[in-house]
Amino acid sequence: MFDIVIIGAGPAGGSAALFAAKAGKKTLIIENDKSVTKRAWMENHYGVMEISGPDLVEIGKKQASKFGAEIVEATVTNVVKTENGFKIETDKEQFEAKHVILATGFAVDLAETVGLKTKPGTEPRVKTVLDVDAAGRTNIDGIWAAGTVAGVSVHTIITAGDGAKVAINVISDINGERYVDHDVLK
Ligand SMILES: Cc1cc2nc3c(=O)[nH]c(=O)nc-3n(C[C@H](O)[C@H](O)[C@H](O)COP(=O)(O)OP(=O)(O)OC[C@H]3O[C@@H](n4cnc5c(N)ncnc54)[C@H](O)[C@@H]3O)c2cc1C
Repeated sequence: MFDIVIIGAGPAGGSAALFAAKAGKKTLIIENDKSVTKRAWMENHYGVMEISGPDLVEIGKKQASKFGAEIVEATVTNVVKTENGFKIETDKEQFEAKHVILATGFAVDLAETVGLKTKPGTEPRVKTVLDVDAAGRTNIDGIWAAGTVAGVSVHTIITAGDGAKVAINVISDINGERYVDHDVLK
């Protein structure tokens, strides 16, 4: 049983996994290699002079793995509530988790299968997004959403930031107190 399963390894999912794993949570990323970020070139990602989308996504995965996050390449087909949390069904195998974060980018098909409430998108080229609250909670307790699919502006610094925000909210929920992750320059 994972503490947190994150669906998607774009900036939102990768960033959420980094915070979750670094907080010592048993973390799994499931992704099917369809991040639109793979077509991007960034010169507006604060703190990085310039970087390609593929490099940003790969570095993000490495950061999350460094702290113990596991990564599986598969397509999630359904997320089913169970007594202890959720069963995550994929086209390869099943997993179990207490919390699930959807970071599926432009893709809302899974969310609709699961029965998550959606609404029209407001960002350019974004048709539909999930109806989440300010913390990233969906209408199903224990399922959260971050990044493009949660309706934020489609820019890597913002989607990565939203992934971090939602992960901190999930970690704080699990810990029963607000979580902070600060390292000090030695
Ligand atoms: C051509 C182009 C240029 C861009 N240029 C810039 C730029 O200059 N600056 C900037 O800030 N932003 C830019 N962007 C935007 C940015 O790249 C991303 O769109 C944004 O950060 C989205 O991140 P995300 O994590 O929400 O989604 P994505 O990066 O799309 O990630 C979605 C993830 O979900 C996974 N997934 C979806 N459904 C499933 C499923 N059922 N099972 C398993 N995995 C699933 C996918 O495999 C993927 O890993 C550009 C985008 C494009 C397309």
